[in-house]
Amino acid sequence: MTQSDSSKISERLYLEDSPAEVLRMLLNQEGFRITEQRQKILQVLREVPEGEHLSAEDVQDKLTASGEKIGFSTIYRALHLLVDLGILRELNLSEERKFYEFCNPLMGAHHHLVCAECGTVTEFEDSTIFSLGSNEALNRGFSLLDCQFTVRGLCPHCAPSLSV
Ligand SMILES: [Zn+2]
Ligand SMILES: [Zn+2]
Repeated sequence: MTQSDSSKISERLYLEDSPAEVLRMLLNQEGFRITEQRQKILQVLREVPEGEHLSAEDVQDKLTASGEKIGFSTIYRALHLLVDLGILRELNLSEERKFYEFCNPLMGAHHHLVCAECGTVTEFEDSTIFSLGSNEALNRGFSLLDCQFTVRGLCPHCAPSLSV
């Protein structure tokens, strides 16, 4: 996918509000089959409040809670497909599992501050990190797919209890 293709997709994702439509358009474009299951998985991620991040297990729990029975491997494969299509972003927030969030073009490439104790994730934006990453990529002939910066630490709530 060229850079101009992906910026066109972002523009259309922003204009188009129906997840089913977005998915249909992108999957058609890439020659993938649209399944009802993939639409439901995307819907789950669309409904998550901004700033929350779901693992594949969380997606399955939410689907199960709403009465959908979709196998874990199907969810896992669908999430990877959606990452490849640039619809979702895979996040390295924890060493145990990957988390996913919807690529919101309006949010830009935000970054994450993670508490190593309670797992609280705070999002922040910083254009210097993004320009550093994209300059580095361009200078080395890479086309930029994602620029993630994850800071690990102890949140104010967790830090005092550990120092006792
Ligand atoms: Zn995030
Ligand atoms: Zn904490």
